[in-house]
Amino acid sequence: MRPFAYARADSAESAVRALSEAGPGVKVLAGGTTLYDLMKLDIEAPTSVVDVHRVPELSYIDTSGDELVFGAGARMADMAEDPVVRNEYPMLSESLWRAASEQLRIMATAGGNLLQRTRCAYFRGGEPYACNKRNPGSGCAAIGGADRGNALFGISDSCAAVYPGDWPIALIALDTEVDILGPDGERTIPLAELHREPGDRPEVETTLRPDELILRIRVRKTPAGRGSAYVKVRDRESYAFALASAAVAVAVEPTGVVTDARIGIGGVATRPWRVPAAEQALIGQPLTPESMRHAGEVAYQGARPGTHNVFKVELGIRVVADALRIAGERAAR
Ligand code: SF4
Repeated sequence: MRPFAYARADSAESAVRALSEAGPGVKVLAGGTTLYDLMKLDIEAPTSVVDVHRVPELSYIDTSGDELVFGAGARMADMAEDPVVRNEYPMLSESLWRAASEQLRIMATAGGNLLQRTRCAYFRGGEPYACNKRNPGSGCAAIGGADRGNALFGISDSCAAVYPGDWPIALIALDTEVDILGPDGERTIPLAELHREPGDRPEVETTLRPDELILRIRVRKTPAGRGSAYVKVRDRESYAFALASAAVAVAVEPTGVVTDARIGIGGVATRPWRVPAAEQALIGQPLTPESMRHAGEVAYQGARPGTHNVFKVELGIRVVADALRIAGERAAR
């Protein structure tokens, strides 16, 4: 690990001031569950770190209004256990419970969870592997290499690394906005505009500037939340990242016809990935094994597998169908 300057912020404003003064080599430290790892691997080498870990105004959860509001410093474990989140938005709670380990969920924050970096083995493996994300312009060892974990959607000739998060897959399926504080004040963007596809600049992963801080994540409440589920398939059933996941929410009439559908898929794209065409394929239909399978097939139309990850297409279709089955049972209660 290399030497770096350290500053502890006591408010969001003082954090942004410290970020601005520090310049482009600065990083925000929240739960530390990703940043410390990457610094030890010499993948991240910030010249300075601004610690927002103890900023009280960031650490809250408010589910009392017409939105679910998660301060950027809210802990994953607390969000997963919140009674409103558990009972009315099981997809959100399950996506948090199925991520990481108990120890990590106690430390990791909402904002940090959104901004976690890929688990691509070549990215984390360091030299001698070519990696455009770690070392821009060096090439990509994963494309044409051991590509079992690569993405199927949002890929480019420069990078096909999977976005690793679970909770953001559930968030992208709902109407989620992110409030951000910078030197010029506050701005709000839809979650869909936070993460970038790699294009020819895979090292630039978000639209967040170095001197900006995520303040809170807001999710518009919807009756479809009760009929929701998060299904995640991975190589082992604990402490592993998704090979394929699906976050789905449905509202169903007493006749069984779907009136609202939200679908996000994870483990298969370079950013949190919503599939509106699959949602539209369900609306007006009853939830049957055939219609749920069809929605999965529509979700995976346009997938671009490589050599070793082609299995993710069929796996992903089945995961979408399974999540819809569970969500449909919950919606009917
Ligand atoms: Fe690096 Fe992306 Fe290629 Fe992985 S897929 S080696 S992260 S450029």
